[in-house]
Amino acid sequence: MNDFTQQIQDIASRLLDNGQVDVFIAWHKGQQDFQVQPYFARSADEAQNIIFNDYSIHNLSNSLLKFRDSKEKIGIVVKGCDSRGIIRLLEDNQIQRERLYIVGICCPGMKDPLQAMRDELGFNHKPESTELAAKCNDCIQPNPVIYDELLGTEQSPRVQDRFARVKEIEAMSADERYQFFEETISRCIRCYACREVCVACDCRTCIFDEMRPQWVGRENNTTDNLMYHIVKASHMAGRCIECGECERVCPVNIPLMLLNQKVIKDVNELFGPYEAGMQYVEGQKPPFSMYEESDPDDFL
Ligand code: SF4
Ligand code: SF4
Ligand code: SF4
Repeated sequence: MNDFTQQIQDIASRLLDNGQVDVFIAWHKGQQDFQVQPYFARSADEAQNIIFNDYSIHNLSNSLLKFRDSKEKIGIVVKGCDSRGIIRLLEDNQIQRERLYIVGICCPGMKDPLQAMRDELGFNHKPESTELAAKCNDCIQPNPVIYDELLGTEQSPRVQDRFARVKEIEAMSADERYQFFEETISRCIRCYACREVCVACDCRTCIFDEMRPQWVGRENNTTDNLMYHIVKASHMAGRCIECGECERVCPVNIPLMLLNQKVIKDVNELFGPYEAGMQYVEGQKPPFSMYEESDPDDFL
């Protein structure tokens, strides 16, 4: 990991020094080793603060949304999952490829800083864990799918059957499923952290913030909570790049990837083969972002 830190610092310094980019997005260290945070370096001096360690887990591609209305050129470090997020933004016309210099890292898997914090504060039932973050155990794409420069050696996917949990839920009766989701989703406190961290949630005005009309109720009750999660999951159809950040940041441990992976599985089976954000083809759109006059309109 230390090698990566030095290499990223050198690349960022070079790009910022010669004016190839105006800002370079990576990570820097907070007070504790595990408190790694997204970082925006604007000079070669600031690039010396960059680090890459076991906790550089955040999907930085989401940070590009801060720059969608500017003309600045941006350097960014991406792991496999982050790079799929960049393709999400390119396909959604949120950023232009020529504004980006992408440094890819073949990802060895990350630890979860939130988990480490719970360990540190004694809120964990398990003793200090050295395991990978949950999302990294389900990783199908550790290697960047788009980059200008690549660091590290190619890694193998870690997951055996990423839909195993989804299949268990599918095997339940309709009543059992409803009960499971009712209990699970009733824990949601509607903090919207899962939306804020999501690179695929890139609408300028979110349906959940609209008041006139108020499409989804804001009360923290089971009905409104279920509605929030059904609407969010359906908006992710064909668009979720499976970075797992929503589930990782949820303060009440709602297994959000169950919903996302169910939709991913169905989109692949019904409209595929299709995996979101796996390759960038200019002008290509996800399945539900295209319309043809011959499309059936049974639903409407
Ligand atoms: S999900 Fe994959 S690419 Fe992303 S941090 Fe984990 S192992 Fe790396
Ligand atoms: S992060 Fe968790 S608690 Fe917050 S809105 Fe999302 S599911 Fe609900
Ligand atoms: S829904 Fe979750 S897994 Fe999918 S892109 Fe958004 S944050 Fe990543």
